[in-house]
Amino acid sequence: MWMSNTGYLRLWVKLPNGTRRKELYHRYVYNNTYGVIPEGYEVHHLDGNILNNTPENLVAIPVDIHDLFHSTGNIELLIPYILLREILKLEA
Ligand SMILES: [Zn+2]
Repeated sequence: MWMSNTGYLRLWVKLPNGTRRKELYHRYVYNNTYGVIPEGYEVHHLDGNILNNTPENLVAIPVDIHDLFHSTGNIELLIPYILLREILKLEA
């Protein structure tokens, strides 16, 4: 695992066909805890610390809502996705 020049941790992930692919660590953790990240979703760090990659700190949010959150700081925008995450965790 290493830190990318954007400050995010990255790792190599081995694919079922034997090849490897670089992946952002927070997306890897999200994927392994809650399941597949939907197309067009970003994985957001709830506490703002991009090195805190515990599952509790991660939530998948549509890109436009994610941008809106970062420009407004309105935490209520995130609530539906935090609830959705808990449902996905039960199903994972
Ligand atoms: Zn974010």
